[in-house]
Parts: sequence; C-alpha cells; structure tokens
Amino acid sequence: MLTLNKFYIDGAWVDPASDATMPIMNPATATQIGTVSMGNSEDVDRAVAAAKRAFETFSMTPKAERLALLENLRVATIARLDDLAAAMTSEMGAPATMSLESQAHSGLGHLDDFIAALKSMEDEETLPNGDIISREPIGVCGLITPWNWPINQIALKVVPALATGATCVLKPSEHTPISAQIYAEIVEAAGYPAGVFNLVQGDGISVGSAMSRHPDIAMMSFTGSTRAGTAVSKDAADGVKRVTLELGGKSPNLVFADADLGKRIAESVEGCFYNTGQSCNAPTRLLVERSCYDEVLELAKAAGEAQKVGDPAQQGDHIGPVFDKIQYDRVQAMIKIGIDEGARVLVGGLGKPEGLEAGWFVKPTIFCDVDHDMRISREEIFGPVLVITPFDTEDDAITMANDTDYGLAAYIQSGDEARVSRVVRRLRAGTIQINGRGPDYGSPFGGYKQSGNGREGGVFGLDDYLETKVRPPFTA
Ligand code: NAD
Repeated sequence: MLTLNKFYIDGAWVDPASDATMPIMNPATATQIGTVSMGNSEDVDRAVAAAKRAFETFSMTPKAERLALLENLRVATIARLDDLAAAMTSEMGAPATMSLESQAHSGLGHLDDFIAALKSMEDEETLPNGDIISREPIGVCGLITPWNWPINQIALKVVPALATGATCVLKPSEHTPISAQIYAEIVEAAGYPAGVFNLVQGDGISVGSAMSRHPDIAMMSFTGSTRAGTAVSKDAADGVKRVTLELGGKSPNLVFADADLGKRIAESVEGCFYNTGQSCNAPTRLLVERSCYDEVLELAKAAGEAQKVGDPAQQGDHIGPVFDKIQYDRVQAMIKIGIDEGARVLVGGLGKPEGLEAGWFVKPTIFCDVDHDMRISREEIFGPVLVITPFDTEDDAITMANDTDYGLAAYIQSGDEARVSRVVRRLRAGTIQINGRGPDYGSPFGGYKQSGNGREGGVFGLDDYLETKVRPPFTA
C-alpha cells in the first residue's frame, strides 16, 4: 500500500500540518491502493511563503537560465515517463498504452512547445510611439488541476509558470495524487531553486479555496468543472487576482452528407469514447445532416459495438473504467435519464459490460433520435456516452451547435472546404477540429462562454503568467 505523506515545500519533502488522509482508489478493481495526506490552509500558507521568497530572485533570472532549467526538466520528464503512465493507469484507469503515449507524453509535448515559445519571445518590444514594453512574471501562481488528464493539465500550468520566472503552488486533484507526486520529483530532479515549485495535496474546499483567497497569490490558474471554477473566481475576487479558467464542455460534432462518412463516423465515435469519455473537449454531440442520418446510425452502431472495454493494466486500444463510483453513478443516472426522456439506445445502455463487474466500468453507449433539449444533449456526462441528433440545414446545425452554455471545442466533418470555412467562422468555440485533425501542441487551448476564459499552451499559455510594463525611452 502506497503512503503519500509528504508535501514538497521550499525544496524539501515536509510533513503536512494535519494528519488527515484520504484513500487512493484503483477504479479498475474498486480497491484501495494507498493513502494521501490532505493539506489545509496552514500548508498553503507555508508553500505560498516559500514561493513568495523564491520569486524575489527567480523572477530576475535571465531567459537563458530558465531555458537551461527547462532542458533539465525535459531530461527529468523523459526519465519518469513510464512511472507517470503506470501511476495514471492505477489511480484513474487510463489504459496502459494510451497512458504512456498520450497521458504521460503530453507532459513532454507541452514542455517542448513552451521551450519553443519562450525562445521566440523578445524580452522587450518598442511600440510604434517609441515607448518600451517589457513582460514580467506575475508573481506567485496558484495552480489547481483535475484528475482526467492529470499530467497534461499539470504541465500546461507548471511549465509556463517556471518558463516565465513566476513561482507556484500546485494543488492537483485529490483523486490523482500519485502522478502529481512523481511530477514534483521530476521538478526537484531538474534542479529548480527552493520554493520555485511547491506541491500541496488536498481537496478543493480546504486547500483549493485557501489558495484562491490567499493575499500573496497573484494569479490562479484553474482547470476543472464549471461549478468549482466559479467558486475559485468568487474566492479570488476580493484580492483582485487574475483568474484563468479551463472548464467543462459539451462539444458538437457536425456531420455533413458530403463527408467521407465511412472514415469520419468511426473516428467520431472513437473520439467521444477516448479516455472513457472523460475529456473536457470530447465530441459528445453528433449532429447529423438528415439526408445521411440512417447511414450514419448504421456506421455509428458498428463503431460503438466494436469499442473494446477492458483492464487498463493491459496494453491495447481498449478503454478503461470511469474514474470512481461517484462518476459511475452519475453516468448511469444520465443513461437512465436519456432512456426516460425517450431517446433511443443504439448501443450499450445501463449496467456494466459483461466480465467487468468488479471495477467502475461502463458500457459505451450511443443514443440516437435525441432531441436537442434533452438533458443528455445539454449536460456534460463525462463518460462514454454519445448522443446523435439530426439536422436539416447548415443554419440549423450551427444554431444547435452554439445553443449550449459551453464553448470549448467543435468538430466538423465535411468534404467541402468552402462550407468548412463558413461554419468555422460561425461556431462559438475555442478549438475547431476538421475531418479528424485538431490543433497541435503549442496552439492555444481554451473555451468560450462557460468553458472558461484562459488559453493554455505555447505563446498564449505563457501570456497568462506575465504582467505588461511600459516605460518611455530614457531621456536625461
Ligand atoms: P472538479 O471541478 O471537481 O475538480 C477540479 C479541481 O478543482 C480539483 O483539484 C479539485 O480539488 C478542485 N476544486 C474543487 N472544488 C474547488 C473549490 N471550491 N475551490 C478550489 N478548488 C476546487 O473537476 P474534476 O472532476 O476533477 O474534473 C472534471 C472537470 O474538469 C470536467 O468538467 C472537465 O470538463 C473539466 N476539464 C476541463 C479542461 C479544460 O481544459 N477546459 C481540461 C480537463 C478537465
């Protein structure tokens, strides 16, 4: 049984202020695999004080020094990729192959693009009016991350803080503490000065809100649910902190009859089920032009039935369980709501897949004939559940796509380039994927509306951690 009973504060592994702990569970077996210490506001005070002291000198380091440290971080990350992948498989059920190739490797992909972005940034810039702009690290940053893409989200926050010369306190999800602890060990191995990076484990109510309210934290970067993101904003408001939010989604996937349906529908179904449907940008609403609706249903049924579910410890392209009992119950409740609302179950349904009764496994489920106003079409389910709704015209498709509180991502399947550019312009979402191709590492990731207000990754991702200062040219 693993015991995570130290926090990384001021360059050392220290005892938490209280002896409260929480079990770490393996969702594939529903058994306890360890315990993690839960922090409180005293731990936050200690970590913030260390980060504040470290900021005095770290914020003044030249870019070349920060780039050298990022190169160390790169070497240290590569050395621990297998450990990160194994941790995420056991703590949140990411299947072994994708846990290494996608989950763990995202830490490296983002790091490489932040290094490129930092290299491309000028320290100073002269405006057309002759004044001089400099960009400076904002101060101590509070970083709060979710459990569904643990290292992806940690890298998207910790790396830009370190790259810009800011210092930080990371509070990872209480459900995925193992990968976060390994990441802290990676930062330690990279040789950052004491206090530049600090890790406090714990939950949102105690550690998260203590960070959001802390007077010495200049900026909060939050990824998680819209509910918790709103709480962070409210807590941070009195201190007039900068708050960047990366929140939920219910992303539409618009399928036009002129698309290569044979290929695109299978990919669309797979994309929705990837990471067991637990991705903020999952294409969960398939909006289909009525003239190809029946054909799409056939293709979606075949793809849904072909989706394998299995033990995440095994290599392969199957999906794993959802991450815990609460999530399992929520997904089941939403499937039941869909049935009660009168949507037709095309694939899957209630209950666990045969032979996988021990863990929190869900049947990959597809609903068709879904009315756009049904709850399964409006609410983020965060499980392998796809809803399919027909549309008549391009205008109808766009109206339905945009008629959501969210605006994180949107997907288009069409063979007509003119149509695609027309539709892209009208979709209210931060990321658009076209015919299976999405933006790469280094491009900005973030949402419109209740999906948030930040942009993470590359140059845009560095921006959130910088203040802008202006001065006139020197005159005696
Ligand atoms: P969550 O909101 O329950 O938790 C996220 C983090 O916030 C955790 O670390 C949690 O401890 C903390 N937290 C909870 N309440 C808090 C509070 N009052 N104050 C401060 N911190 C608090 O979300 P989750 O279940 O871990 O993650 C799933 C959600 O995250 C989904 O809605 C998903 O769409 C979203 N998400 C968004 C993105 C994105 O980039 N837009 C990426 C991944 C996940």
